Amino acid sequence: MTTDFRAELLASGLLVESSVDGLYGRSGTFEKVVRGIDDLVTSAGADQHAAVLHFPAVMPRLVLERSGYLRSFPDLPGSVSVFEGDDDLHVGLLERLERGENWTELLTASDVALCSAACHPLYPQCSGRLPAGGRRFEVFGHCFRHEPSLDPARMQAFRMHEFVYLGEPDAAVAHRDLWLERSADLLSGLGLAVETVVANDPFFGRPGRMLASNQRAEMLKYEVVCTIHHDAHPTAISSSNYHLDHFGIGFGIESANGDVAHSACVGFGVERITLALLGAHGLDPDAWPLAVRSRLWP
Ligand SMILES: [Zn+2]
Repeated sequence: MTTDFRAELLASGLLVESSVDGLYGRSGTFEKVVRGIDDLVTSAGADQHAAVLHFPAVMPRLVLERSGYLRSFPDLPGSVSVFEGDDDLHVGLLERLERGENWTELLTASDVALCSAACHPLYPQCSGRLPAGGRRFEVFGHCFRHEPSLDPARMQAFRMHEFVYLGEPDAAVAHRDLWLERSADLLSGLGLAVETVVANDPFFGRPGRMLASNQRAEMLKYEVVCTIHHDAHPTAISSSNYHLDHFGIGFGIESANGDVAHSACVGFGVERITLALLGAHGLDPDAWPLAVRSRLWP
């Protein structure tokens, strides 16, 4: 069971639990593995000559609104609320806090939201006309998804390491396909038993069922899945996505010839890959097979 694995991770100190399911602190050893994965992914993309961007955990709320994420997954994103009241309201807030009542009703929505996907804050940076050949980015970002779970692979706050292409449709498809193969090779090279599958995103509600069947029919998204711990279901540890013109339309991005830009991204879930490695090779990275260690820490 994943909960046994969770118990092992907590007992070893690799993860530190909080009062909220799916929200963890991480040990130095866990982060050493994360850094090894990040470095390996970076070197796998060295031929892309991608511009490197690191984004914070929050982004303009406008990005959430334009990304279409609220349409597909209204249950997953979060927006940040802040206190903007006067002295009287502050007193009211403290009274509610003291009485254990809901004080968050007194907050107002700020102009920032939590990032849903690492690549989302990138798109507004690309509004306008792209150069010939498009643009490539390597993006490091934090993500939030409100899906409290005891499965350690389903964290509410996690990081994604992506390579993103924006430009012509053919090149976007080629980016997705190149990275699908590359990510499967990279992950199986770490001794993980991975499989490539057509993705099946949990789109929300009735319109979501149509989105899901379109996504499958058009084979827009592939995932590299891995059984993180025996008895658990396979979990996506990387995904390769062709967005068509979705972000091109949402953020006013044109390719060099003036058409709406298409885009594609590959995302590596670094916490999930770390968990998969811990599940496959044991909780002590110093005791992992030399072939794995030498790839992560050459
Ligand atoms: Zn992405």
